[in-house]
Amino acid sequence: MSVFNFSPGPAALPAEVMEQARAEFLDWDGSGMSVMEVSHRGKAFIRVAAEAEADLRELLAIPRNYKVLFMQGGASAQFAVIPMNLAPPGATVDYVDTGHWSRKAIVEARRYCRVEVAADAGGDYSTVPAADTLRHTPGAAYLHYTPNETIGGVEFSYVPHPAGVPLVADMSSSILARPIDVAKFGLIYAGAQKNIGPAGLVIVIVREDLLGSARADTPAVFDYARVAAEDSMLNTPPTFSWYMAGLVFKWLKRNGGLAVQGERNRRKAELIYGAIDASDYFRNAVALDARSTMNVVFSLPDARLDAAFLAEADAAGLKNLKGHRVRGGMRASLYNSMPLAGVEALVAFMRDFQRRHP
Ligand SMILES: *Cc1c(COP(=O)(O)O)cnc(C)c1O
Repeated sequence: MSVFNFSPGPAALPAEVMEQARAEFLDWDGSGMSVMEVSHRGKAFIRVAAEAEADLRELLAIPRNYKVLFMQGGASAQFAVIPMNLAPPGATVDYVDTGHWSRKAIVEARRYCRVEVAADAGGDYSTVPAADTLRHTPGAAYLHYTPNETIGGVEFSYVPHPAGVPLVADMSSSILARPIDVAKFGLIYAGAQKNIGPAGLVIVIVREDLLGSARADTPAVFDYARVAAEDSMLNTPPTFSWYMAGLVFKWLKRNGGLAVQGERNRRKAELIYGAIDASDYFRNAVALDARSTMNVVFSLPDARLDAAFLAEADAAGLKNLKGHRVRGGMRASLYNSMPLAGVEALVAFMRDFQRRHP
């Protein structure tokens, strides 16, 4: 059965990538073995790992003075690993609070250092603070923000510029969605399971001058300098996820890179927000300039219709549209692998549903 999977994460992967992985599942690279059955230190896997890094560097135009690390523990481990590495004892760090994930990052960072909230979006988190309202602590070790809040469907339309302070970004649900200027960031991290590949892998892109000042009690596997020195193979990395991420990077390159992908994502978002705004039935409460291109939240005129909407959508092959349990309503995640046809099918279904349940 062919479906469109709108899951927020783990999310759909490109069909072409899944087919390639299936084709070489049992006999990878002519070895007679699966890629997940071979040593991470063998020549063949090292080539896969290095190519994945090179392709990611090319896609994002990552400058030479940045390290790319392939780590484990998800974005949530990084909530702690970042202060362990970048905030020496006694340091203050600034965090922008725009919703669920930035709050989780704040709670974890408070275990290690003093956290100042540089701005909060307030109330129901349906917007992001304006650039000129961010409060910067002089001498802060870094400023952390969440460019795209996956649950609230709220996205920054600008990159904060904390003069002289490294900018740290949780790009779990927005990395590779469009080109970015990596040089504006001290550190970027992203769990793989939204826009990169299977869960189990988290990618960290960090400027070299930020390495080497981890707290003394930082576990070796979480010490960026040590991980970088061992090419992310201090211990066994999540080899299958790394390989899959590499296939996704090649798929992105084949399909025109991030400028083209960004344009595709813009058109998908425009289509669904246009349909929501044109109806007096569906509603999206996010401020116009803060609407996420990746995670589109919307509600029906009466929450008692939610169950019928989800059941009928599911039967029509439109999967995983239920909003996060803390928010309710609906959420359509439109990561890179969601084709325009999926959004067209969803919009047609929404119109039809409205007609049948006026
Ligand atoms: C999904 C997500 C996380 C959590 O990722 P885990 O890999 O489950 O730890 C953190 N931040 C953002 C923005 C996310 O979308």
